[in-house]
Amino acid sequence: MTPGCQQTFADRLDWLVDWLYPPRCRSCGARIHGRDAEYFCSVCWSHIQLVSHPLCTICGRPFPNASGDDHACGVCLERNPHFVRAHAWACYPREEMAEHPLRQVIQKFKYGRKVALGKPLGQLMARGCEEFLGQCHVEMIVPVPLHPKRLRWRGFNQSGLLARQISSVYNIPLDHFVLYRNKDTPPQTQLTEEDRRKNMRGAFALNPRKSITDKCLLLVDDVYTSGATVNECSRVLKQGGAGEIYVITLARAVY
Ligand SMILES: [Zn+2]
Ligand SMILES: [Zn+2]
Repeated sequence: MTPGCQQTFADRLDWLVDWLYPPRCRSCGARIHGRDAEYFCSVCWSHIQLVSHPLCTICGRPFPNASGDDHACGVCLERNPHFVRAHAWACYPREEMAEHPLRQVIQKFKYGRKVALGKPLGQLMARGCEEFLGQCHVEMIVPVPLHPKRLRWRGFNQSGLLARQISSVYNIPLDHFVLYRNKDTPPQTQLTEEDRRKNMRGAFALNPRKSITDKCLLLVDDVYTSGATVNECSRVLKQGGAGEIYVITLARAVY
């Protein structure tokens, strides 16, 4: 069989699979026409804003003004986070977050317990953050852990599933058991930034059986809001002797 025939056969097979199981937008559930749509319908895609320059060189917050260079934002200069750099695949405005397709798909994934969303969302994140991931020489991936009670209810750790895709695309080892969550923190959506930080204090502990001394680590989480969660994880990892810590999230809530 010539390569051309193989292509034709693969195309026909794709068409047949799409006909039997019409692909649906992962966020709103509308029919997707054509495989190029990549998981979302065109309406949902039009609302998803990929993170682009200029942005904060520490927390990765995109600046509203499209011109100018990257620089550290005022919040990072004041608070000096424990991680070196954070980056998100896409962002949504906090005031619109209830309606936003990216927020909705994350809610479905986490609270609708749609485990199957882990692969497509992780793939988007892994492929879409190539520039960032190419700049950090990470030795190990560490997902932000869930408290055992929440893990039992959900059945999976969403950050672990996203981390698995990054690990497989970039061939970086992944360890789910470096950090423990020993405090079941309530949802932080309604809290102020100060309360979020207080809420997270002491929420994580390092697994004493894991050696992370001088290792460059990549922390993975689903959403970056105030950065309180990933900053607390980074603090614990640094205290345990880790080297540089980078952070990657699927989404970022922006003000
Ligand atoms: Zn849609
Ligand atoms: Zn910043």
